[in-house]
Amino acid sequence: MKSTFFPHFTIGTDAYDAIPGICREYGKTAVIVGGNKSRAAAEPLIRKACEGTIEITGSFLYGDDATFENAEALTKIPEIQKADMIFAVGGGRAVDTSKWASHLLKKPLFTFPTLASNCASVTAVCIMYNPDHSFRGSIYRDRNAYHTFINTEIIAHSPREYFWAGLGDALAKQYEVPFSARGMDLTWVQQTGVRNAQNVAPGILKYGKEALAAVDRQEVNDALEPAILSIIVAPGMASVCIEDDLDSSLAHAIYNSHTRTPHKGNHLHGAVVNYGLQVMLTMDGQLEERDKIYNFAKSIDLPHCLADIGIDPAHPDELVQNCLHTKDMRVKPYDITFDMVYKAMMDLEKLNH
Ligand SMILES: [Zn+2]
Repeated sequence: MKSTFFPHFTIGTDAYDAIPGICREYGKTAVIVGGNKSRAAAEPLIRKACEGTIEITGSFLYGDDATFENAEALTKIPEIQKADMIFAVGGGRAVDTSKWASHLLKKPLFTFPTLASNCASVTAVCIMYNPDHSFRGSIYRDRNAYHTFINTEIIAHSPREYFWAGLGDALAKQYEVPFSARGMDLTWVQQTGVRNAQNVAPGILKYGKEALAAVDRQEVNDALEPAILSIIVAPGMASVCIEDDLDSSLAHAIYNSHTRTPHKGNHLHGAVVNYGLQVMLTMDGQLEERDKIYNFAKSIDLPHCLADIGIDPAHPDELVQNCLHTKDMRVKPYDITFDMVYKAMMDLEKLNH
């Protein structure tokens, strides 16, 4: 048996006006769980929208990372135990902690992303970390959030680097999913997932740069909403239909390898993933698509060479070696060797000269 839940969502500057009509049938009381900054941005607007219909009985910090320990601590808080619903507010880590806490408490979950950096707010998977912030693993809830309220005004005021990296990360979905699934005999649901994945990049390539300019100016423009849909909802539509193994490939393998390979500087997940995507498309001979991604990356200063991710272009050996055995590479359409990835990186370096 496999259940599939497509994301339900409301988006707009007035998205929170829909809260009473959608949430009221699940109960009369809700608690807010999230980060400090995200609650400061969203909570007053959520409370105002709920006035007279849903009582907000408490507001709690999710912790300092998405850990099972933090999720369990939330389940011990009396106000959370008593509430009819949980409203999860914030970015991926706050939302994933709340997702797991609501799973343990068997309470309806509603999500309120305050950043557009990934699809966590609409999917059932929780990416969990250890208390020392090292990566622990992913775990699936029975279902995703009942509904996601995306306030575009709040995201226009979110930190630009998360939005910027979110554009880079989402683009990988377009190519990694069909690459992993190539040649496989797919079920109808899996095919739907692959098609959904292939509907991510057009919105980002068309609206991404202009949407980033909106976040820079902290105001909503016509490009912001379609770009947010391409970062949060479109990849989520793919993820809910396919297994973990098909969800990522060489682009994320290079990111995971990068976290374990000595490098200069701090680099956000989506930025390194986008570099990995350019390597993957080069290696796979999809040069027309590679050029689209490469030119887009250049246009908004996403990494497009090894130096951009703090790796010496003369010595990418360790980065290449480490990427060959990550979990992202469990399912692949053909054997991927050290030499193939190395050559793709060198070909990409040449494009910069
Ligand atoms: Zn990612």
